Amino acid sequence: MAGEPQADCLFCKIVAREVPATIVRETETTVAFRDINPQAPTHVLIIPKVHYQDAAALAAAEPQIIADILRESREVAAEEKVEDRGYRVVFNTGAGAGQTVFHAHLHVLGGRGLQWPPG
Ligand code: IMP
Repeated sequence: MAGEPQADCLFCKIVAREVPATIVRETETTVAFRDINPQAPTHVLIIPKVHYQDAAALAAAEPQIIADILRESREVAAEEKVEDRGYRVVFNTGAGAGQTVFHAHLHVLGGRGLQWPPG
């Protein structure tokens, strides 16, 4: 069923505490944890507790959770003290855009200068 945990999903396992992660924040609907392969001094992933393969599927089914994730990104940026210098929030959506884990997640990147356009 849409949104249900998937047995083979790494991020569902992080939500269930079956795979360890450095969790920095948790709400009723979201979990935020440090990326295992950080691309910036601050690199946190914010995921919905429910399983959707990408941000587009989540936005279609449960758009309020997208809002929860974006609200959490602001909290993460404040806690990590990256607001002043600027930070980036990214949903890679689809393999062609670099998505490798097919459970929706928002990257929060900061703590260094960030170039545009991204690769
Ligand atoms: P994507 O490429 O946008 O799908 O991002 C997936 C991210 O998940 C990558 O930045 C990975 O480094 C990160 N990642 C993969 N496995 C783990 C893990 O077990 N813990 C934390 N981050 C992970």
